[in-house]
Amino acid sequence: MAEFDVDLFVIGGGSGGVRAARIAANYGARVMVAEEYRMGGTCVIRGCVPKKLFVIGSHVHDEIEDAAGFGWRIGQVSFDWATLVANKDKEIARLEAAYTTNVEKSGAKIVKTRAVLEDAHTLRLATGEKVTAKYILIATGGAPNHGPAVPGIEHVISSNEAFHLKELPKRIVIQGGGYIALEFAGIFNGYGSDVTVIYRGDNILRGFDEDVRKHVRAEMEKKGITIITGCTVAKVDKHGRDFTAHLSSGSSIGSDQVMFAIGRHPNVGHLGLEAAGVAINPANGGIQVDAWSKTSVDNIYAVGDVTHRTNLTPVAIREGHAFADTVFGRRQVAVDHATIPTAVFSQPEVGTVGLTEQEARAQFSHVDIYKTDFRPIKATMSGRDTRVLMKLVVDGVSDRVLGCHIVGDCAAEITQAVAIAVKMKATKADFDATVALHPTASEELVTMRTPTARHVRQAAE
Ligand code: FAD
Ligand code: NDP
Repeated sequence: MAEFDVDLFVIGGGSGGVRAARIAANYGARVMVAEEYRMGGTCVIRGCVPKKLFVIGSHVHDEIEDAAGFGWRIGQVSFDWATLVANKDKEIARLEAAYTTNVEKSGAKIVKTRAVLEDAHTLRLATGEKVTAKYILIATGGAPNHGPAVPGIEHVISSNEAFHLKELPKRIVIQGGGYIALEFAGIFNGYGSDVTVIYRGDNILRGFDEDVRKHVRAEMEKKGITIITGCTVAKVDKHGRDFTAHLSSGSSIGSDQVMFAIGRHPNVGHLGLEAAGVAINPANGGIQVDAWSKTSVDNIYAVGDVTHRTNLTPVAIREGHAFADTVFGRRQVAVDHATIPTAVFSQPEVGTVGLTEQEARAQFSHVDIYKTDFRPIKATMSGRDTRVLMKLVVDGVSDRVLGCHIVGDCAAEITQAVAIAVKMKATKADFDATVALHPTASEELVTMRTPTARHVRQAAE
């Protein structure tokens, strides 16, 4: 008889857990996956996918406005939020079923229940059953932060609820200046809501290139989104169906919804981590892991948002795959977390890979900046007041392109392709040797000849 019930028990059927389960099963492991909510996890059920569907739909408003300059006369238009939500739910249900089928096809078994660790080899299911496993993978993801418990926090929604609102709010206050706040600001603005973003710092998108931060803010404001910086939501009152957000600055804003998008925390609570001896990383509150995603316990691994490294779906998937290769494929694979491209699906969209100007200037003695800010061709006929930003950050000594930052239509799509070149350590000369593809916005990336700025760090005296 086998020593353990299964070779691998995966806690969490999201991006990382599903990939790990399927690959491990392909290697011949006996695998069980526990999912307490819906297969597919955050990305599929209440993250990347429904978000992108909402973003796509919200662009239609601009398309209709822009059409007039191209001769289109579009009659009365209307938008129905309930149809959007229902169609999105249908697609998410289809994807959830596809995830379930794919896991089952690989030979892994799904148990639709919560699982917690009882010790380093034993799982307790919410059904009361116990399962023993040779290896355990914790892939429990993360959840929205509610922040300091301000009075009235119970009236505040997170992105989880934003996907299921009964009605489109006419007015919404969104606290946060990161990915989710800005993506939802664009979504609600596109569908016609009056949007106010409240951000505690001096400008949104902290950590992104300074030019990107300024450009995105200016463009969002042109679209009619109000961005209030340097304050927080201190209290929320509800009167009937209306809310008042009281700001730390002393002013207040009336709205139909108040949403917080102020970061996410790893799902490490009530998992039995202590009982199993799994350590938390004191630096970030996630499960502590080594380069192979192994925790402080030899047979227990953790991948994805629960480790709070880089909280993106493709990263969770890679970590899950690398874990399965390492443990069941007899092939040690460590994920390279350097130079990961990322996009904010705000409106305008941001695509970025590699170092910001500020990071490059801290790390390299000579940094050349190639930057252009221009009116896209579509705007010449639509009349829309909008500009695109393209920026390359280059090592002035080796000529290597260290970073690329784009704000504008298709920024994410362009960045995915540019990321290959940046990851391959392409030089500015390689970019210049590539013939432009005309007429595109991204041809600017291969036609910027003269640096707009050169930074040379003086040697220490
Ligand atoms: P998850 O996908 O969160 O999966 C964890 C699963 O574990 C969940 O299904 C949960 O129910 C389950 N679970 C938890 N505890 C237990 C337990 N004890 N027992 C059983 N099951 C359990 N990333 C991108 O790359 N691009 C995007 O555009 C993007 N957009 C996003 C938009 C939003 C609104 C949000 C919130 C996130 C977005 N992300 C995006 C981030 C992305 O969703 C996550 O990085 C990714 O889902 C992490 O995968 P994971 O496997 O670590 O965890
Ligand atoms: P982010 O970390 O992107 O942004 C959080 C924002 O909330 C920041 O502006 C932060 O300010 C602010 N904040 C944090 N704490 C407080 C507080 N106590 N009071 C007021 N403001 C606060 O987190 P999100 O929630 O937007 O998204 C979570 C993660 O999910 C992202 O970091 C990303 O990894 C992933 N994601 C990825 C997406 C994509 O790939 N397109 C889309 C959505 C999510 P400050 O900057 O000052 O710290």
